[in-house]
Amino acid sequence: MRSQGRRKSDNVEDRRGVAGKRIAVGGGLGGLIIVALYFLLGGNPDEIVQSLQTEGTTSPAAAGQPLSEKDREMGDFVSVVLADIEDVWQPLFQEIGQDYRAPQLVLFTDQVQSACGYAGAATGPFYCPGDEKVYLDLSFFDEMQLKLGAPGDFALAYVIAHEVGHHVQKLFGINDQVMAQQGRVNEREWNQLMVRMELQADFLAGVWAHHAQQATDFLEQGDIEEGINAAGAVGDDRIQRQTQGYVVPDSFTHGTSEQRVRWFKKGLETGDIRQGDTFNASIL
Ligand SMILES: [Zn+2]
Repeated sequence: MRSQGRRKSDNVEDRRGVAGKRIAVGGGLGGLIIVALYFLLGGNPDEIVQSLQTEGTTSPAAAGQPLSEKDREMGDFVSVVLADIEDVWQPLFQEIGQDYRAPQLVLFTDQVQSACGYAGAATGPFYCPGDEKVYLDLSFFDEMQLKLGAPGDFALAYVIAHEVGHHVQKLFGINDQVMAQQGRVNEREWNQLMVRMELQADFLAGVWAHHAQQATDFLEQGDIEEGINAAGAVGDDRIQRQTQGYVVPDSFTHGTSEQRVRWFKKGLETGDIRQGDTFNASIL
């Protein structure tokens, strides 16, 4: 995708290679729980971490590594994508008479403290509704390329757009409605709600790609395939197959690869947020 010479967002908080690499005594529990959940569920616990609170504090600045040229380029790319996402959601919210509050995006290395608790690189990218920030360790992207077979810059853009999709869900009140069901429904029903939430975030990523393309014609040959490949590569069934060698349908929290691709494509083709009611869709 074309990203050279385009606007960069002011909402990127770059915490890479700086303080907070070590967890002070007592602060590590949240991180451990998050990592444990990650392994149990085989996905990004972006909805789970928000219920975790820790009173951990970071240690004084650990000696930071200076950013490499490649790191800086990646940071610039992320800023351009985030600006692009802002430029799409702002007018779409305006159209329906709502204000769009742009989220911050935190780039981090190894570990990060969020309002949702500690998270490590193993958590994968996540959105924390508590502080309205997207957290991204770019090593996840390297991993996506290496292990999940989802290369390409548009794949990274898709992941960011998916996380901002969770922010859009928060602004629409969907996140609160779903969270209100926690403890009221059984585990199976809860997982179903999580799947519908995830598929809607994929749909919203597709809506972004639709409008961004109309406005800036930024897509290059193969980009959509990259996005679809990424959507498929991070589907729960694929991740579980790679980590466990088999699929456990009841613990799905992100939807199957096929479902993720379908909702991403629906958003991409229609660009119409009204088409994205995954909660009332009879077929996912
Ligand atoms: Zn998600």
